[in-house]
Amino acid sequence: MIQSVFDDGSIAMRPTVIEVDLDALRDNVARLRERVGKTRIMASVKANAYGHGLVRTAQELLRFGVDELGVAFLEEGIMLRRAGITAPVLVLGGIIGNQIAHFLEYDLQITASSVYKLRQIDETAAAMGIRAQVQLKIDTGMGRIGIRHENAAQLFDAMQEARHCDLRGVFSHFASSHDPDKSFTRLQLARFLDVLEYFPGNGLPMPIRHIANSAAVLQHPEATLDMVRPGIILYGVYPGPAVDRSVEIRPVLSMKTRVVYFKVVLAGASIGYDHTWTAEKNTRIVTLPVGYGDGYARSLSNHAEVLINGRRYPIVGRISMDQCMVDIGQDSAYTGDEVVLIGGQGEERISVEELASYCDTIPYEILTMLNTRVPRKYVCQGG
Ligand SMILES: *Cc1c(COP(=O)(O)O)cnc(C)c1O
Repeated sequence: MIQSVFDDGSIAMRPTVIEVDLDALRDNVARLRERVGKTRIMASVKANAYGHGLVRTAQELLRFGVDELGVAFLEEGIMLRRAGITAPVLVLGGIIGNQIAHFLEYDLQITASSVYKLRQIDETAAAMGIRAQVQLKIDTGMGRIGIRHENAAQLFDAMQEARHCDLRGVFSHFASSHDPDKSFTRLQLARFLDVLEYFPGNGLPMPIRHIANSAAVLQHPEATLDMVRPGIILYGVYPGPAVDRSVEIRPVLSMKTRVVYFKVVLAGASIGYDHTWTAEKNTRIVTLPVGYGDGYARSLSNHAEVLINGRRYPIVGRISMDQCMVDIGQDSAYTGDEVVLIGGQGEERISVEELASYCDTIPYEILTMLNTRVPRKYVCQGG
């Protein structure tokens, strides 16, 4: 196998890294476990485990006690299987084209969101002579994928006829469980519980029911049901600014680099593309080897701050693809000094929520933008 340059200790790479704090990850899983008791936990590891690195993060989450994994796409599931992960994996997204055989080959649970797709799955399983592991998706008001709740009985009927499929669960997804106004979430839950009456009504065993994302875990304990599907809270980030902080979590991810260049600039000098920032007085500028090509968004230009020696300093001028500049005023910083873009240093901390507010987005996007060009480093007490 070709060794990744990232794993080659003989190469002195640029000093930009994403650090994943495994102690924080373990503690977040423990706090969640206290909250949900014996209820199954399906950890959402889609989009490179929210930027934390798909395979290693999934392995650690399983070691810390989550029961199952959820991903968005087939290829994410295959990456987990090829890494030797044997835990149940559900692909939450819709199936496209001729993917079904690959789901079966890799023992991945398939989301069936229509009668047509369920029949396709059953036919493929029959042709391959194996059983498909299926979860049925009900749209209770998200409007994304899933059979509409009014028609759910048609999908359940089709499931009874599918000779080559095992029913592993029935699920739905909330559109606004982070909202302080809980009425729509309650309506979605009521619709979900209502369609599930089909099973006892027809003398059938109740399948595993799940609907709760992170925000629902925090704000809607009545939606816990048989399994929860948290993502963002495992990574130590609350799903919204106004959400109940009823489970105590701490951030897992930090992004760090080091100063690569120092200079003194005179009043009137401008910095970066399009000279969007001009020094009002003589000052000191340091350059960092990180930019929007790493997922440090260009829209943070002239807004974000970084930490050097435990103090906040502003990013000045446009963030370029691979570099950006920081005004350190009359303070000193030397080539090689550590710079924190996300995370803590001394008493200070830059949160993903703070960066999201500058970019007019949500913390999820800040995390998932972080590019695979940046190596992930997994750290814990005692190495
Ligand atoms: C992403 C996702 C989740 C997890 O959402 P969080 O808000 O990160 O907890 C759960 N279920 C589905 C279907 C998802 O797509």
